[in-house]
Amino acid sequence: MKEKIQEQFKQRFGTDGVIYASAGRINLIGEHTDYNGGFVFPGAIDKYIMAEININGTDKVRVYSMDMDAYCEFGLNEEDAPQDQWARYIFGVCRETIKRGGVVKGFDTVFAGNVPLGAGLSSSAALESCFAFALNDLFNDNKIDKFELAKIGQSTEHNYCGVNCGIMDQFASVFGKKDCLMRLDCRSLEHEYFPFHPEGYKLVLLNSKVKHELVDSPYNKRRESCERVAATLGLETLRDASYTMLADVRDKISNEDYRRARFVIGEKQRVLDVCDALERGDYETVGRCMFETHDGLSRDYEVSCEELDYLNDVARECGVTGSRIMGGGFGGCTINLVKEDRYDHFIATAKEKFNAKYGHEPEVINVIISDGAHRVED
Ligand code: ADP
Ligand code: MG
Repeated sequence: MKEKIQEQFKQRFGTDGVIYASAGRINLIGEHTDYNGGFVFPGAIDKYIMAEININGTDKVRVYSMDMDAYCEFGLNEEDAPQDQWARYIFGVCRETIKRGGVVKGFDTVFAGNVPLGAGLSSSAALESCFAFALNDLFNDNKIDKFELAKIGQSTEHNYCGVNCGIMDQFASVFGKKDCLMRLDCRSLEHEYFPFHPEGYKLVLLNSKVKHELVDSPYNKRRESCERVAATLGLETLRDASYTMLADVRDKISNEDYRRARFVIGEKQRVLDVCDALERGDYETVGRCMFETHDGLSRDYEVSCEELDYLNDVARECGVTGSRIMGGGFGGCTINLVKEDRYDHFIATAKEKFNAKYGHEPEVINVIISDGAHRVED
């Protein structure tokens, strides 16, 4: 990819620039925990956005997207927002940097990527983080701290792309480190790295390529359930709730709310258990927790769907170590931790059985935990 970008850059702008990259992400465990003040556990992956950038001495940004085969030019004032959605991510990052007192001047750029779009691997965060990191390096002597870079990406989504996202994706893309997962405390925003080098295992996503649009927003309904139970317990969020506390209020809440809260309390503990297991190099426990998360999401939280439950069943049948829905649910991917000697059988079986039942194969996306935003040296 790097050579292609360089060739294109030279051809278009007649010079050379500096190359930056930032990654998409997975979340190993910790689902629907962010809005409950709990933990998430993401890592950056070996799928990324890469951009060559050169300061051009004007007040204009000139950008070519290789994957869209599209060119766009824009100024750096609020009224200069481009129409093209892909360009708005870059414009947004420029604007959010400026709003925070950072310097941004005109630059030329060519970029490309290999994070699958809309598969739940956060290609948009990779794009934002790549440019946020680059602008910090090129114009601001790296004075903007890394958390602020993540927030620049998040605010870009909020203010220029109409996506009301949390901080996890941008956090993971900016802070990602090879062979490490990161536990982010969504309440304090403290984070800690944990070793992840599953020797003898592969991490693979199966994208069901289905997305069920549901009439009433299940996301908001889940949030409301959690808020109701927290309020009954006299807590701000379910972060400090325990199974015992939940049992004490069981007759004061609906059975549905009870099950929602039961999942959230279990999920918080599972993230901590997975962290302990990783410090011991115990990937079997990691896998078991992933299956438990899937069951909780499917039965208690009820955000799964037939296709994802089917992929999970196939994973169990094939002796996969751990498998679960990744992301909000109702479609998208499962994330699977598989022993290398079971991998080929699992992939072949999943493709064949899923295709027989649903008329298309799931997309197979292998991932390796890799570095987040960085400057690519020659
Ligand atoms: P995801 O879950 O992958 O983040 P989003 O819908 O949030 O999905 O973001 C996808 C959008 O990000 C694309 O529609 C496009 O505007 C932008 N994008 C991502 N990757 C690229 C790329 N390689 N080239 C151009 N734009 C990209
Ligand atoms: Mg996105």
